[in-house]
Amino acid sequence: LSWLLKNARIDSSKQLYHLLFDDSQIIDCLPNDHDLAELDAQQWDLEGKVVLPGLVEPHAHLDKTYTPITNDDGTLTGAIASMREFQQQRNYDQLKVNVDRAVRQAISHGVTHLRSHVDIASEADFERVAVIDDVRQHYSEHIHIELTALSNMDSEQGKALVASSLERGVNNIGGAPVFSDNPSLAITHAVELAHETGAAIDLHLDENNDPNSGTLANLVEQVTATNWQGPVSASHCCSLGFMADNDRLQLIDKVANANIDVVTLPACNLVLIGRGQQPKPRGATPVKELLNAGVNVAVGADNVQDPFNPFGNYDPLASAQINAQVAQLTSTGELLTAMQMVMHRAAKVLRLDNYGIAKGNPAHLVVLNSTDYLSAVTGIPERLATFFNGKNIVKTHFSQSWSIPSLGALT
Ligand SMILES: [Zn+2]
Repeated sequence: LSWLLKNARIDSSKQLYHLLFDDSQIIDCLPNDHDLAELDAQQWDLEGKVVLPGLVEPHAHLDKTYTPITNDDGTLTGAIASMREFQQQRNYDQLKVNVDRAVRQAISHGVTHLRSHVDIASEADFERVAVIDDVRQHYSEHIHIELTALSNMDSEQGKALVASSLERGVNNIGGAPVFSDNPSLAITHAVELAHETGAAIDLHLDENNDPNSGTLANLVEQVTATNWQGPVSASHCCSLGFMADNDRLQLIDKVANANIDVVTLPACNLVLIGRGQQPKPRGATPVKELLNAGVNVAVGADNVQDPFNPFGNYDPLASAQINAQVAQLTSTGELLTAMQMVMHRAAKVLRLDNYGIAKGNPAHLVVLNSTDYLSAVTGIPERLATFFNGKNIVKTHFSQSWSIPSLGALT
């Protein structure tokens, strides 16, 4: 079945477009003053509503989401300890229910591509990964999901465990080296494994306010020294914001030269960083300086409704808004950049080919309940429909009735 979405707003100009797509790709994208031939297609007149390319979530934790909020001190170390205890007596039926709920939430918010970390501390954890993989298979024609092994790689056994997970369908090499006994060796093993397998590197780095945390600098050094040209994403990088000006700007330049993508996760870091401190630091990645240096920066949700972060609902536009607030991206151009950070910039982190609304590209689309393009980030409108490869995966209907007339209506 083909679709024709008429009078769609696909950018910040006044021009509206007719979007024609079949059950895989966008066949045409024509200005709406163009005459349309008789078409055998399902038609939907959007009357100027916004259509965006499918949203991209570059950093989630599907294996932790919707678990009890058992972290009374609210710190990152408290959350890790609490989660470790919970995972030991985990009910896999409930895990499947939680992951299914998360994936449906994401799709209903217009997500067509999602990358999730999965904790892998021993071979026993492959069972948990298999449950998540079942859900991934169930939705394989409705959303693209990729998995990153979140493991401690500071030993040969740790490296072998991640290598084994890659053979079992995990896609990317991950970890949080700042928490290992030998962060530098953990990074060495991650970079070695990337060279050996071609898999992408996707690390949690410097999720703290210690200017000497050092794992981002170490990664940049090792990626550059070994001439690794494949994808590398560095998540969090909060300590960067606490470094002295010269040190920070020098490191940011090195990140740009090494072609490393940065994923900022402000929702979670606002919650976790600076507990008990006054004045309270934001714990934010220095997004503007990274952008100015030419670094590709994307924004993700990170944890959703778990001991790390009680908030969230898998809505990238909410992540885009909170990032715009925290990073102070407020001019019109900056707001458009903030939107790109859950669209094209996040797609670049996942190395998606042919992303975006253009003739010949896969028809991954989301329809917003708004005729104002910038409202995607300024107002977070409802999502009316999500299309994956041209197929309508979910459609949502809203109705509201008032008992008093508006004074604002123009006739
Ligand atoms: Zn994370």
